[in-house]
Amino acid sequence: MRRPVARKLAILAVSAALVSVGATAPPDGRARPAAEKTPVAVGYGGAVASVDPDASAAGIEVLRKGGNAVDAAVATAAALGVTEPYSSGIGGGGYFVYYDARTRSVHTIDGRETAPRTADSGLFLENGKPLAFNDAVSSGLSVGTPGTPATWQAALDAWGTRRLGSVLRPAERIARDGFTVDDTFRSQTAANETRFRYFPDTARLFLPGGQLPAVGSTFKNPELARTYEELGDKGTDAVYHGDIGDAITRTADHPPVDPKSGWNARPGKLSDQDLAAYRAKYQAPTRTSYRGLGVYSIAPSSSGGTTVGEALNILERTNLSKASEVQYLHHYIEASRIAFADRGRWVGDPAYEDVPTKGLLSQRFADSRACLIKDDAVLHSPLAPGDPRHPAPCQKGGKAAPTTYEGQNTTHLTVADRWGNVVSYTLTIEQTGGSGMTVPGRGFLLNNELTDFSFAPASPAVHDPNLPGPGKRPRSSISPTIVLDRQDRPVVALGSPGGATIITTVLQTLTEFLDRGLPLVDAIAAPRASQRNAATTELEPGLYDSATRRQLEAIGHSFTLNPEIGAATGVQRLPNGKWLAAAEKVRRGGGSAMVVDPAP
Ligand code: GLU
Repeated sequence: MRRPVARKLAILAVSAALVSVGATAPPDGRARPAAEKTPVAVGYGGAVASVDPDASAAGIEVLRKGGNAVDAAVATAAALGVTEPYSSGIGGGGYFVYYDARTRSVHTIDGRETAPRTADSGLFLENGKPLAFNDAVSSGLSVGTPGTPATWQAALDAWGTRRLGSVLRPAERIARDGFTVDDTFRSQTAANETRFRYFPDTARLFLPGGQLPAVGSTFKNPELARTYEELGDKGTDAVYHGDIGDAITRTADHPPVDPKSGWNARPGKLSDQDLAAYRAKYQAPTRTSYRGLGVYSIAPSSSGGTTVGEALNILERTNLSKASEVQYLHHYIEASRIAFADRGRWVGDPAYEDVPTKGLLSQRFADSRACLIKDDAVLHSPLAPGDPRHPAPCQKGGKAAPTTYEGQNTTHLTVADRWGNVVSYTLTIEQTGGSGMTVPGRGFLLNNELTDFSFAPASPAVHDPNLPGPGKRPRSSISPTIVLDRQDRPVVALGSPGGATIITTVLQTLTEFLDRGLPLVDAIAAPRASQRNAATTELEPGLYDSATRRQLEAIGHSFTLNPEIGAATGVQRLPNGKWLAAAEKVRRGGGSAMVVDPAP
């Protein structure tokens, strides 16, 4: 992770030629103490957990000055837009879940990107055939109208106590003064280097002096600082009705590609009307009752809440706290397989599709599916979906379709304040590096979120609710979750990046914490498995290289190795106003948990 650099010395270290953008001299040694990169922190006054210490510190700064969890969440998100620019930022979208302590109720905002109003189901077809995924990613075609600026404003309007300009200030400062490049930032840049070079504005910003940014150097983004300043001054009209928006549509529709690169950056059709029509949507959360607790998350257009919820309902019929490690993982894998089969058939943007959200979350439907699971055998994938509108006992369903491909990136933050409010917020630009296109002179990347649509139905025999459509939101897997006790007080809140693996990461972490009794930070650190209605289940090395794997194979499981799944963060409410913040110990170089007033 990166450490902030003392402002004055950093400025002295910068040569005039390098002032505009990019990496500069090595840090001055006055970095924040290592403790601030800790994966767990306990104390009073509120808590922030994110993947990055500068971003967590931005949230803590706002909490310390009297802001609430919503103010701090927006500040943290804006800072992640600087220090995690390949996973988040105002060029993307996300889903915001808020617990209001005064009313003991949960509220959400769907800030998903939307397709242009000219889009139809053939958006990603060329000569009648689906485009190759990577051809679609680095193009204007994949860019949806960003939802993040509208989400920030909607959250502040409804529940915040600070103006947008005020909570953007810490992020503006980090963008202007710089942050210290770490291994993760460098390696994410390296993984994108080839396509970043297709787009000169991106190369200029993220490959300063034509090179990968060196670990330990200071990375500055004054153009983003100015963009945040303008957003703070003019409000989100600057994006949805103003010059930042003009720059976004121009970039998507006329990709600023280097002609010498030979890259065919297909143009998009994003218009001023698309931006003007964009709304972040306030909507009711999903709710699942699990072992007497209320599990709240995001409703469609994300499939997160319904899929995690259905799987929890399936698992509720098994005593996971007493199960052996093998039987726990077996049931978790099978519940995920079933929930993904149903997700694929039923979940899309509810403004366009008849999504049976209530049915998917009903215990009756879960029971009708849970009885497919046997202790000593494995279900075959692709498993056919059930019908939540007409649950039939032990329904096997009809025709099956495989799960469509999704990338695995993004970032999640979790915040609590001294009044007991909680935010669980996942934001994204889709791929690591999004579309690869930086809006010229503005310092941020555009998303490629529209590649979360199915390019074509996964099976001609099964209805696909996730085909592109005009103004439609692509289906997401984002699952920011808040768990409440019987008195509707928070127990824990968490979330993760990772594309479709978000769902399994949230499900596994919740069950490790609630059923298996692991401390939150260990539940987050536990090696992960991810089954998404596929022939094989992905395992991280900690499980792949274990005896547990061989025991699971003995009952019919097949596995592939996935080196790293997700990067979760969470907060847990402790008695008497105390909070515990938790983040990754190792994944993505370790996360950053902080509290306002540490206490043992
Ligand atoms: N685009 C993904 C989704 O909405 C999130 C990005 C990721 O984590 O890859 O499900």
